Amino acid sequence: MENKQAIKILTDIIALDTTNDHESQIADYLTDLFKDYPVKIDRVTYAPGRDNLVITLGESGPMLGFSGHEDVVDAGDLANWQTPPFTPTIKAGKLYGRGASDMKSGLAAMVVSMLDLLNSGKKLPGRLRLLASVGEEIGEFGAAQLVKAGYADELAGLVIGEPSNFNIRVTHKGIIDYYVTSKGIGVHASTPELGRNAIMPLVKFAQEAQTLMASHTEKDPVLGGLTHVISQIQGGNQINSVPDQAWLSGNIRTTPLYPNQQIMTELEQIISELNAQGAQLAIRYSYPEVPLPSQADTKLAKLAQRVVRKSLGRGGELVAGTGATDASEYIQASNNFPIIILGPAAGVSDHQPNEFIAIDDYLAGCKLYQDLAWQFWQENLKV
Ligand SMILES: [Zn+2]
Repeated sequence: MENKQAIKILTDIIALDTTNDHESQIADYLTDLFKDYPVKIDRVTYAPGRDNLVITLGESGPMLGFSGHEDVVDAGDLANWQTPPFTPTIKAGKLYGRGASDMKSGLAAMVVSMLDLLNSGKKLPGRLRLLASVGEEIGEFGAAQLVKAGYADELAGLVIGEPSNFNIRVTHKGIIDYYVTSKGIGVHASTPELGRNAIMPLVKFAQEAQTLMASHTEKDPVLGGLTHVISQIQGGNQINSVPDQAWLSGNIRTTPLYPNQQIMTELEQIISELNAQGAQLAIRYSYPEVPLPSQADTKLAKLAQRVVRKSLGRGGELVAGTGATDASEYIQASNNFPIIILGPAAGVSDHQPNEFIAIDDYLAGCKLYQDLAWQFWQENLKV
């Protein structure tokens, strides 16, 4: 496809405001792009206006997955933007707009590569599946829904188009965000023996959780250690009342050495012990994300490294990521396929005002994903 047309696809989807919602606009737009082609299109609705989209091309053979999220984060204070976030603007070889980097450029490049493959006239030796997800930035619940519905079951490998500056992210930490609430009995502070203080067991929990998490000192060679921060604490209403409620929140970054399930069981154990002593504590989690164990030794990572270096002559380093991605969901699919994170954007402006991608990088990405699909099919057919 001509560069102009490839750029139009990207600017068109950046112009759709999908701030933590309304992803169906992108699903509609992409569905329309593919409507005259022999592809299978599935819409998977998460909530009204929030559709995941799955587009599958090819008849048979090994299936490569391309994953991109349709949502973007809030633009923040518009005064900090030199051009409006949802009016994509090109200046000096860079395209500015919310999602230009994270990650509508990766998503659009994947789409362009698929259209180019369909237009190539060649018989495709394998299959390719686009998994466009909702709600990645809030908790990856779109990808979780796609996994649950079985859309990852046939994948033989998955590429996530998050910004990686053409390096290959092969591992990242997981996240457990948790809230602990404590219930007490509120009475006048002059007669505390008639009530039950909600704050004190919460403080005990905080101390025990802190000590236990700090005892997990083993370090992943690439990701480093597990971290734990008690990030918020609040309780009580008045200086002369026994508090009847209190709560705290915590953020844990997990590594494959300490799987999420183990850590959650440990937190719950502290709670049940304190509850057995008369506390009324309860824990809930906000979209826990499991770590991505290293994929460095997989065939997919090595293949991608070769393709990137051959196609671009730069990038292709196997690196660790800082944040969690949809990989946290796809790694939980029942079949065990390799996952890498490889995208055209540099990732330096993500979640910031004046987010951008270099146009040349975007166009290189469109070509790279095509090369990657061909190479993947060839190498997976050999076996
Ligand atoms: Zn992203």
